[in-house]
Amino acid sequence: MTKNQKLEYICSAIKKAHPNRTLVFNDGSPDQPVMIIGEAPGKDEEAQGKPFVGRGGKLLNSTLETLGWKRSDFYVTNVVKYRPTDEWGGNRTPTPEEIEKFRPALEKEIETIDPKLIVILGRVAMSGLGIEGSMTMNRGKPVEKNGRKILITYHPAAILRNPNWEPQFREDLAKIRELL
Ligand code: URA
Repeated sequence: MTKNQKLEYICSAIKKAHPNRTLVFNDGSPDQPVMIIGEAPGKDEEAQGKPFVGRGGKLLNSTLETLGWKRSDFYVTNVVKYRPTDEWGGNRTPTPEEIEKFRPALEKEIETIDPKLIVILGRVAMSGLGIEGSMTMNRGKPVEKNGRKILITYHPAAILRNPNWEPQFREDLAKIRELL
């Protein structure tokens, strides 16, 4: 099976398990060496069917661009593949149960992409990969888990809320090049 066939298989298994949800699966090429993993799609991502296309995505893209990268240099996905909504139809943080439910699919996706480096954006993505500890403890310190290099940094939405963290976010993402 090719990588694309394997990804299609994972995607159709998720669709079967969540037939009434709008799936937001991935963006970018499965052959890129860096896999970026976020939390879950929001309203803009649900509307466009792609991860990180809203305000947070734009901040992520522009930060990567200042470091000499293009968004298309990465394979981009989320732990939870549909938009978690609250009772008012707004975005909400995925529950631990939702994160757990998606973990086997995420593990298969990682195995399929076989990236040289995984970049984790935020706390939810950290739990999706079973990494313990706080963002303060983990960010910017490359670790290895199951033989894979992992770099953890803030979620771009956290930078939108706390613009004073932006230099650290950029500093963390600048490590991508050193880790390849
Ligand atoms: N936040 C995420 O974690 N992922 C997206 O795709 C969009 C916003």
